[in-house]
Amino acid sequence: MSTVNIAIDGPAGAGKSTIAKMVSAKLGYIYVDTGALYRTIALFITENSIADEDIEKSLEKADVSLKFIDGAQRVFLGDRDVSDVIRTPEISMAASRTSAIPAVRKYLFGTQQKIAAENNVIMDGRDIGTVVLPNADVKIFLTASAEERANRRYKELSEKPNCPAYQEILDDIIKRDYQDMHRETAPLKQADDAVLVDTTTLNLEQSADEIVRIITEKTGGAV
Ligand code: C5P
Repeated sequence: MSTVNIAIDGPAGAGKSTIAKMVSAKLGYIYVDTGALYRTIALFITENSIADEDIEKSLEKADVSLKFIDGAQRVFLGDRDVSDVIRTPEISMAASRTSAIPAVRKYLFGTQQKIAAENNVIMDGRDIGTVVLPNADVKIFLTASAEERANRRYKELSEKPNCPAYQEILDDIIKRDYQDMHRETAPLKQADDAVLVDTTTLNLEQSADEIVRIITEKTGGAV
């Protein structure tokens, strides 16, 4: 039986994960956050102080896996659940840097394709529609202005201690966009057959509704 695959790509902070989670709950699909895989590799490299020239070889020892517990994704390094510790700004930046290394992308490619072959998925990332699932049933490119993305992130972080200044968040977003769009291997870009959804003026509910509408239209309501 073939599975239904939905690819959602876009820059950091566009709301991909929150919106993709809402959409997958509505459709009963598994939500796969591929950024968590890249973050876990970045954690592995950082914690073990692995030099760039040793990364390819050391990946053999990185045991990264995804588990779905009550429908929610958890990411493991060996048998340690690292889903929460990978969410720091340091790991965000390290993931953006190390994800440009072709050996890292190659290492995670099979993991992502296998999950999509075995399940109905909504998979979010940077190169899902272009590289990982080029035959996805529906491709969405989700974006919003850098200022609006920084604004949302600032609001989210301002409820926690040690919130960085708005300008620092905006600078990080611009830097990460640049790195993700200009790397040689699998850069962030809209696939030719992806539908662009700009959420700058949409709230979460409106964004999720728009995506469900696109998916229903493209799959003829067969989901
Ligand atoms: O989506 P998230 O912000 O968690 O991703 C962290 C970093 O991982 C991104 O900035 C990007 O460099 C990298 N990434 C990627 N390809 C993906 C998902 C994430 O290169 N499919």
